[in-house]
Amino acid sequence: MNDQPPPTTLRSIVQAATGYDVRRCGRCSYCVHFVTPEDDVSLEMMLQLVMQNDEEVLTSRTLWSDDALKRARQMCVSTMDVAAIMLALREEARRRGLSKDAG
Ligand code: SF4
Repeated sequence: MNDQPPPTTLRSIVQAATGYDVRRCGRCSYCVHFVTPEDDVSLEMMLQLVMQNDEEVLTSRTLWSDDALKRARQMCVSTMDVAAIMLALREEARRRGLSKDAG
């Protein structure tokens, strides 16, 4: 009875790990103003990719940028902790062998 299947979509994986449903992103584009040349996608786009269950998000430069991670703590106007979401996505990338860091 307690044997729930493990979450399979990126959205459900993030929700299980952080408690945040990425559908709460209001697509307000506020975070888009803080994209740097090093980033390949904005936070908004990152969350959209999660919603679409697009694995590409797991190898995006933005996801693995520590600078973007720092900015994520302040860049989102929703009540979601986007940095925590990014860390959950990094963890999932490692699990799938898609890690972009040495560890
Ligand atoms: S600031 Fe937050 S709510 Fe607005 S688009 Fe970016 S991620 Fe979504």
